[in-house]
Amino acid sequence: MTDATVSRIKVVRGDITQLDVDAIVNAANESLLGGGGVDGAIHRAAGPGLLAECRAIGGCPTGEARITNGYRLKARHVIHTVGPVYNDGDSDEPKLLKSCYEQSLKLAQHRSLKEVAFPCISTGVFGFPKEEACEIAVTTVLNWLHAHDCPAHVTFCCFSEDDAAIYRTRLIASK
Ligand code: ADP
Repeated sequence: MTDATVSRIKVVRGDITQLDVDAIVNAANESLLGGGGVDGAIHRAAGPGLLAECRAIGGCPTGEARITNGYRLKARHVIHTVGPVYNDGDSDEPKLLKSCYEQSLKLAQHRSLKEVAFPCISTGVFGFPKEEACEIAVTTVLNWLHAHDCPAHVTFCCFSEDDAAIYRTRLIASK
């Protein structure tokens, strides 16, 4: 992968609800009606307008994505994607996780968004092994950025320092 592509990716440790970007990605569930973890944090920070818009969408299948406004968030939009629950690793989980990243990036491109931030989808309550999920996330995003100008920048927003270290190590290896 070229340095120019890798340099369009940033890793930060922190709370994704605080980021001032065009869109933050939500690790949602199929109902799109909120939940725990990053989903709950995004709904709390965005306020009731987000829940109302999500309710009108009426759900989202695993591996797909939907876009809404950002309401009280600094981020202008929220891209809701539904990661797979990790079962045995042999039930299409890698393919579905890859699809989450691709479908989110596709929506960002469609709206001409410049900067998008992802959490570590599926690696909390949904139980996806962190290193394997990072490998899928980074490979999928690098391939997308290599082939497309939009979005110009992608941030991986890791809630823990351990996650941020996994992402930084993976990105250094791709240079
Ligand atoms: P999933 O159900 O997809 O596993 P979770 O929300 O349980 O979703 O976890 C996904 C990731 O989001 C985990 O790495 C978790 O630490 C992280 N996370 C939780 N809250 C936040 C937040 N406010 N900002 C960024 N990441 C968060």
